[in-house]
Amino acid sequence: MTDKIEYDVLLVGAGPANLTLAHRLVDLADKPIRIAILDKAKDVGGHLLSGAASNPRVLKKLFPDWDKGEIPIQGICTESYLSVIGKRRWENVPSMLVPSYFKKEGYAILNISDLAAGMITKITEKAEAKEGVVVDVYPGFPAQEIVYDGDRVAGVKVDNTDGDLADICYAKVTVFGDKGFISRDLVSRFNLRKNPQVYSVGVKEVWETAKSYEGKIWHTLGYPLEPGHLGGGFIYGCKDNKLIIGMVMGLDSPNPNIRPPQVLQDLKKHPYVQGMIRGGSLVKYGAAIL
Ligand SMILES: Cc1cc2nc3c(=O)[nH]c(=O)nc-3n(C[C@H](O)[C@H](O)[C@H](O)COP(=O)(O)OP(=O)(O)OC[C@H]3O[C@@H](n4cnc5c(N)ncnc54)[C@H](O)[C@@H]3O)c2cc1C
Repeated sequence: MTDKIEYDVLLVGAGPANLTLAHRLVDLADKPIRIAILDKAKDVGGHLLSGAASNPRVLKKLFPDWDKGEIPIQGICTESYLSVIGKRRWENVPSMLVPSYFKKEGYAILNISDLAAGMITKITEKAEAKEGVVVDVYPGFPAQEIVYDGDRVAGVKVDNTDGDLADICYAKVTVFGDKGFISRDLVSRFNLRKNPQVYSVGVKEVWETAKSYEGKIWHTLGYPLEPGHLGGGFIYGCKDNKLIIGMVMGLDSPNPNIRPPQVLQDLKKHPYVQGMIRGGSLVKYGAAIL
């Protein structure tokens, strides 16, 4: 990066929200436009943890052939369950009693990290095919601070991860998709939040299993969370015998000694989950605040 750069649109964070916007801007562009996308991860998608069951409505709008290899997906849900579990019990709630939110048949099973990488490729390909449309992607460049011009956001101060001198990236429009890492400054400066923020933590592992569970989704309630602790488990069966197992739990647990990674281990020790992962191997793991 040079010392001062100016764009029409600056997107802070290359998560699915900002990448959707970038994709749409490139699609709509009928005159020259310069777009910059910054992300703190060294590779786009590198800091994204979610294994998501995603309603294909938006995917279809962006990528009409989403289910035919246009973007990386892990499978399409064919069976979904809401399960109420105890230390040894596992009961799937009868379908007619399952709230529609937990019915995921037809949903895309995504690895958001792969999706982001795939979206960047699509966006840059589309931009290259359009005269005057420039999309510059800067992975490994965390935005450090918002730069104001009076009450207007003029851009952000950027630092690269190797510790070089900070640059300033200016733009006519700056969009923050950084989940609040630096945009919380905007929230307090312009008094944008009416309701208090609720925080949860997600812990997740990806397993390679002996048997394929592709297309199957379980959401769990109850064990191993303590009564009064908001949250639940999720298990997503992906292609290539991959199985995503995770827990999301509120950070306002009544028990201050709760250890989210241990909660996930307790879910994995459940006989039902053991039946899925026994003989398999752990591929990767991670945690994120959401
Ligand atoms: C364990 C887990 C399971 C989930 N399961 C589901 C699910 O099943 N279905 C579903 O719909 N959703 C799910 N979610 C939620 C989903 O992942 C988020 O809603 C979605 O990723 C939000 O997208 P986003 O683009 O707003 O932000 P994010 O995906 O968080 O992207 C933010 C990006 O900004 C970058 N960034 C942050 N700060 C800076 C900075 N200062 N400078 C530059 N870049 C920065 C980050 O590196 C990241 O790439 C899950 C989340 C987790 C953690």
